[in-house]
Amino acid sequence: MKSKLSLSNKKYTFDLKSLLFESKLVFVFLIIGLVMSITTSCTDRRSERTDNGNIPNLSENLSVTNDDYFPDRVLVGYEDEKDLDKIAELIEGTLLLKIPQIRAASFKVEEVEKALEILQGEENIRKVKIRYAEPVYRRNIIPCEVGQGYSNQTTLSTYGSYQNYTNESLDFYLWGLRAIGIKKVWDRGYDGTGIIVAVLDTGVDGTHPDLQGQIMKGYRPSKGEELPEGTDSSYGGSHGTHVAGTIAAKRDGKGVVGVAPGVKIMPIVLFDSGGWYVGDDYAASGIIWAVEHGAKVLSNSWGGAGYSQALKDAFDYALAHGVVIVAAAGNSKSSQSFQYPANYPGVIQVGAVEYLGNKYDIADFSSGSPMLSVSAPGVNIISTMPQKTSVGYDKRSFQIAENSGYYGFMSGTSMATPHVSGFVALLLQEYPNAKPWQIRRLLENGAIDIGEPGIDERSGYGMINQRSVSSELPDNGGLNLDVEVTDAYGDWKIPSVSVSLIGTSNTDRRVRYFSKTNGDGVAKFLNIDTGKYDVIISGPDSRENSEGLSNVVYRKAEERVYYANRSFTNDSSITFNFSSQARIKFKNVSGNEFLILQSKDGSTSTTIELLSNQIDISHLSGRYFIKFGYPSPVLHNTTVNATITLNGYDIRLSGYITAGSTLTTLYDAYGRNSHWTFFGKTE
Ligand code: CA
Repeated sequence: MKSKLSLSNKKYTFDLKSLLFESKLVFVFLIIGLVMSITTSCTDRRSERTDNGNIPNLSENLSVTNDDYFPDRVLVGYEDEKDLDKIAELIEGTLLLKIPQIRAASFKVEEVEKALEILQGEENIRKVKIRYAEPVYRRNIIPCEVGQGYSNQTTLSTYGSYQNYTNESLDFYLWGLRAIGIKKVWDRGYDGTGIIVAVLDTGVDGTHPDLQGQIMKGYRPSKGEELPEGTDSSYGGSHGTHVAGTIAAKRDGKGVVGVAPGVKIMPIVLFDSGGWYVGDDYAASGIIWAVEHGAKVLSNSWGGAGYSQALKDAFDYALAHGVVIVAAAGNSKSSQSFQYPANYPGVIQVGAVEYLGNKYDIADFSSGSPMLSVSAPGVNIISTMPQKTSVGYDKRSFQIAENSGYYGFMSGTSMATPHVSGFVALLLQEYPNAKPWQIRRLLENGAIDIGEPGIDERSGYGMINQRSVSSELPDNGGLNLDVEVTDAYGDWKIPSVSVSLIGTSNTDRRVRYFSKTNGDGVAKFLNIDTGKYDVIISGPDSRENSEGLSNVVYRKAEERVYYANRSFTNDSSITFNFSSQARIKFKNVSGNEFLILQSKDGSTSTTIELLSNQIDISHLSGRYFIKFGYPSPVLHNTTVNATITLNGYDIRLSGYITAGSTLTTLYDAYGRNSHWTFFGKTE
């Protein structure tokens, strides 16, 4: 894919002539631009070492991987902290991290597949109570391309005769601030003062002259280390420093200025040495640290596939504390809804805008989603880069004379996101007690339509605009919804059930929210839009009920699908009771055989006499083994055949009793994963 960002040298020369007089700097940048203007495809990339300055290689304590998840870590939602030692013992692992706020812990293990198999295995379930167990997924910073150079010369031709908009020395390149009309907001007295924005990224160079005084203390979860204010924490590269500058670079006439120069940036290092993702476990602890240390906005220019309950719980913790979450949609162009955190409910998902000289449009690379909220400038964005003496120094940056600071251009939804995060800080300064959905609605109401007319999946409600500030805070249109899923009797709160809300929001937008029931059987949808939705519930996830990642029970007959259509107008909680029907039919029984129904955790076992060749066991709820027995040992090897009709599906069962024995477990065709899941019967 060739992006639209390339520019012809012809046009370049033309503009060079007309602009040389504007600033001596222009010449310098055009030279840099000519050197660096080779564009490449703009897809999501693994956070391989793209930076090439001072960054040391891998972190010594954490393993890294190119797989979708870390091979030697497992994340467990625990019931009781006292069980952590027992869990460690069972999986022969060592506790890495405990996150009591969301009752989760991670362990270093030999093999995650094996650890999951052990935790879900029949003998171990009753020894330790766990709410869920999951692999630790890998995610990536969302760079598009660094240092594409100065190619927005078209910006200037459209803005007419160039006038300094922000009074910064690099103003010439700050098209994004013009695009959103930021000066009108500053003129009203809002610059973000008093608001803390956490930048969850590669760390931030607090020694940069344009960031000095802007960077408060932060956190490096992989080391459990607090970062003193104003220090260099650019361990994972230049990306986070660039993001931080777009939010809060100083308004001092030198270099660039951020959207909200009054805010304090809290660096949270989620991409550590070499740019490697620390994992959902450490990321969750970083999110919680930020919330507990006063962050009001979480800026997330990163993401990846894999629904993590722990990560969801950490973001829900932030939302429940009134913290606004902003996240990049991704640079893979296509419409997607698997990228997290962007697609967790309540998150403000952001697309990237480019400026085409006579109009703004959604950038070619910018991913879309039914959940995408707004878009913001994200192509050829100039911002701060780590200093030469800093760990994240990036050779593709350049230095300016006025303050000796380093700067560079980047493109991506990563760059659009901090425009929105900074803007949110301005709105929070105006409305300090606004709920996250109210802030989102302010952004959406004030956005300028771009791209496809009306609300669309790639630009959301449009590009953020200054008019959101000083507009009235909406007092309806958002809510928190809990969807609880239990068995027929309301006793078993069922985890890992998928819950989708699909329908039309109060603004007539077609939306789709997705969540899964957590370890307490509740799917949380915090700060979503009011509206009329189909609630589609399906599950539980066969894979997560299985013993490990490889030993999957592919028995869809066990999964239940429920549906309801509801209007949601204010905070609500609804419960769905799963039920199931199960009947076993034997070829022929003589009347004295029996069945043993034994719960998977071994806690209960019921023996039932088989008085006829059919038996209804629909009353059962939970995970069970089905065993068949004769009252006395059989004389010959005997095969037992039966059929279970489970929720309308016929599944063949068989067992084998060797001569001299009385009992066999009944297996399905796969012969293993022999437990069955039932939800009981509603009268
Ligand atoms: Ca500045």
